[in-house]
Amino acid sequence: MIDKRIVITGGAGFIGSHLTSKLVEMGNDVVVIDTLIRGNKIPKDVLAKIEFHKVDVADKAKVIELTKGADIIFHFAAILGVDIVADNPIETMETEVNGMQSVAQAAIQNGISKVVYASTSGVYGHLALEKSVDEEILVDPRTSYSMAKRYNEIYLASLYEEKGISSVALRFFNIFGIRQDNRMVIPRFFEQALNNEPITVYGTGEQTRDFTYVDDAVKATILLAQKAHGFEIFNVANEKEATIGTVAERIKAITNSNSEIHHIDAPSKRYDYEIGRRYGSSAKLLNHVGYKPSTGLDEGLKVILDSMSN
Ligand code: UDP
Repeated sequence: MIDKRIVITGGAGFIGSHLTSKLVEMGNDVVVIDTLIRGNKIPKDVLAKIEFHKVDVADKAKVIELTKGADIIFHFAAILGVDIVADNPIETMETEVNGMQSVAQAAIQNGISKVVYASTSGVYGHLALEKSVDEEILVDPRTSYSMAKRYNEIYLASLYEEKGISSVALRFFNIFGIRQDNRMVIPRFFEQALNNEPITVYGTGEQTRDFTYVDDAVKATILLAQKAHGFEIFNVANEKEATIGTVAERIKAITNSNSEIHHIDAPSKRYDYEIGRRYGSSAKLLNHVGYKPSTGLDEGLKVILDSMSN
């Protein structure tokens, strides 16, 4: 993907900003649309090379205007983070639904043939019981966030059937890396450890997640965008299960922290989101583009730590 005009909604957010940086580095002409509600995570040198618009993706007229001449739209704008989503379930769904409608209309009116969408591994709900989940199993979205993401997957499938606009929906598995907000577990534990405050593990800490390094996720995203044809769903997962208790111990160790690891009850508003086990198969991704995430948890944690001391 070189010398393309690319629009990224949510391009100033965590994954979005890494995607923006990479696409700029590859020589593309990048337009970012973002409300900046969570601040602007795009590095200054990259910001100087893009066209930035502080616009809500729900503003259909603006999105249509700003996507004129674009070759592809990466739709990454969303409300996320369990705490915020659990407190704002209606806004979460409306942002998803209205945002997707703007993007779809823009693609139709401006003749844009590809959309890449950030979905979520949350659509699997409580299904990873015996093995890693693949894209073929029935989904089980139970929260406003995951239900809206699933709705948008079907919306994109319909957009291809009716309008011939190709897309990929990426089910990201717990992406982590530098510039992530401390609403997510890894930056939160880093902050607690570095301040020598208790590290708050919810429950037993035996719940698992599949932590996928952001640079790997961005690489997979770009490879899939290049090949997008028809409508496809892909897991973007590292295929390794880590318990949250282990994550707490590793972060405490690499930061040389005096923090104690406290096991506390998860806030009640998180209950619908508290999934005991989740890890994904990236076999379909590997099969399709010859690449899958491989940066391990320890390696990724080290990069985060190094970035803090620089
Ligand atoms: N978690 C925790 N302590 C915290 C924040 C999160 O133990 O202070 C756990 C949470 O119970 C969940 C995991 O970390 O099992 C991942 O939480 P996060 O909100 O980062 O992402 P989720 O996978 O829940 O969307």
